[in-house]
Amino acid sequence: MTQDGRMEKIISLAKRRGFIFSGSEIYGGLAGIYDFGPRGVELLSNLKKSWWKANVYDKENAYGLDAGIFKHPRTWEASGHIGGFSDPLAECRNCNARIRVDKELAKIGVTADEKMSEDAINDLFDQHRGEIACPSCGKKEFSRVRAFNLLVKSNLGDFTSEGADPVYLPGEACQGIYLDYKNIVDSMSPKIPFAVAQIGKAFRNEISPRNFLFRMREFEQADTQLFIRPHANKHAYETLKKDRWSWFLSLGISEKRLRFKQHENLVFYAKDAWDIEYEFPWGFDEVEGVHDRTDYDLSQHEKFSGVNLHYTDPETGEKYIPWILETSMGMGRVFLAVLCDAYCEDEMDGETRVVLKLAPHLAPVKAMVSPLLKNKPELVAKAREVYAALKKVVPQIAWDDNGNIGKRYRRQDEIGTPFCITIDFDTLGEHPDLADTVTLRHRDSGEQERLTIADVAERLRAAVE
Ligand code: ATP
Repeated sequence: MTQDGRMEKIISLAKRRGFIFSGSEIYGGLAGIYDFGPRGVELLSNLKKSWWKANVYDKENAYGLDAGIFKHPRTWEASGHIGGFSDPLAECRNCNARIRVDKELAKIGVTADEKMSEDAINDLFDQHRGEIACPSCGKKEFSRVRAFNLLVKSNLGDFTSEGADPVYLPGEACQGIYLDYKNIVDSMSPKIPFAVAQIGKAFRNEISPRNFLFRMREFEQADTQLFIRPHANKHAYETLKKDRWSWFLSLGISEKRLRFKQHENLVFYAKDAWDIEYEFPWGFDEVEGVHDRTDYDLSQHEKFSGVNLHYTDPETGEKYIPWILETSMGMGRVFLAVLCDAYCEDEMDGETRVVLKLAPHLAPVKAMVSPLLKNKPELVAKAREVYAALKKVVPQIAWDDNGNIGKRYRRQDEIGTPFCITIDFDTLGEHPDLADTVTLRHRDSGEQERLTIADVAERLRAAVE
């Protein structure tokens, strides 16, 4: 997958240490579906908390939402997903592997417009057929390109299969915000500009799920929709882009591996569109879209539902359909970016170690507590006491008394635990000045300090905020 095998190492660590499992693995797996294991779910939940804080709690005029997964079938007509949510697919004539033609063209530097007709993309593909090899078998013979709709169908409430409109799983989570826009205005009386934030599931029949969590068939999107006055987009859009950039930096992601990239081809209603890209082991790729969408979404839903979605300004009485600035981010992609950025192999105490240099507020375990020796009951009893006391301060504390202390440190380094706390004979008062102190070891430097238990509690509290 990558020259230095970095991606394979990250995938292997993610499984071995309980972050990510392939979905339905005992049945041979299900392409594009992954499960978050005990450590993965903690990291994911920390990411979500950080996102929610930045987009709801830290804002004056932002509202949270958790809309149902299923939506009325008309939703996807109004949004354009039934007619236009498709990817160009071709099949390898030799091994039947399916390729996404726009992505394969992009690899050789050719851009296919998102809105190209089937004939137009076939013409473009024909010009470059000789340059594109099948990623599975290497042959260069493909079928004609056809548009493949990505919506996943369900049979919710369809007991007869006759005449019922198909119900779809959401191709994007943000539609829930548009459908509840009127309810939010009516119940919360927000003043424009205001934002609605949601973390929700999305499903896409991706032609070739790949790159681990990067392209899945079931994933979570964290979206904000900022409702603004018509034409008040310029300054607000720039502020939003800066805001999102700062959030990615707050995750501890290295700035040199992030970049903004402007869309070359805009859909007809959009004023502007930028992606935030992260440099994954295979190169820069999209983690979030920041889109200036005008009044398109609400106008479409007003037209299709027949319900008035105009906003009435409480002071002037003016009525208008708000314009929308959107941010849409894949949680799995950000999770993967965080893992890739944190993964590190370095030298410590004359050994090579694997360490996840996760920001403390994201780490699944904040500290590991252990007695220096496992066979000294008085040390174990004191260490248990410290473990219980610290767990009340920060719940994500681990206990480990297996193997020697060096091995315990290495295990915690691999899962990104920022601190290890060791209880020794000095803690018990062998050296009276040091009674009730412990050693606190720092993951990244390996440095150790002697601190009172109360100071350790304070350090932990401050580090994970
Ligand atoms: P791509 O061009 O990579 O298919 P997109 O432009 O279709 O992505 P959007 O529709 O803008 O993506 O979705 C918003 C965000 O949702 C993306 O920035 C990405 O982080 C996430 N996302 C989209 N598709 C997937 C997927 N199949 N698996 C995981 N995350 C995804």
